[in-house]
Amino acid sequence: MELSQKLTEAFNAQVNAEMWSANLYLSMAVYFQKQGLNGFAHWMRKQASEELEHAEDMINFTIDRGGDIQIGQVNVVPTAWGNAIEVFENVYKHECHVSQMIDNLVNIAEADKDHASRDFLFKYVREQVEEESTAKSILEQLKAYGECHIAIMDNKLSKR
Ligand code: MG
Repeated sequence: MELSQKLTEAFNAQVNAEMWSANLYLSMAVYFQKQGLNGFAHWMRKQASEELEHAEDMINFTIDRGGDIQIGQVNVVPTAWGNAIEVFENVYKHECHVSQMIDNLVNIAEADKDHASRDFLFKYVREQVEEESTAKSILEQLKAYGECHIAIMDNKLSKR
């Protein structure tokens, strides 16, 4: 069974969103690196490469299922934030948005009775729980300990 047109379009949109996410995190890595916060930058680079892996995985799945993939233009990402707390507020907000997109893909797969797609997407449904929770936990720690303990967080994030 081939992917429906609607699901193919949704996978294309998701691939683009994963690439946008990768650029967002790379931009955040640059932001931190310029301040000498190399642990934060390292964490963001890992995050960026994971997002690219998601895009690759979705591209392969779509092609395996007979769907067409077109690599389109990726929109510009933000390049500046007020401080580390603001960055992680944005990470958390963004990951919640990605979770909604994945849920929407599952809804389309279910409407199509496309069990293979539903099964493929479930690992991303679970992964988003982790993504949200990790972002929230770093955000809470930054809020609790504040900018004065930024070096401790930088050291912690360098271990990712
Ligand atoms: Mg992702």
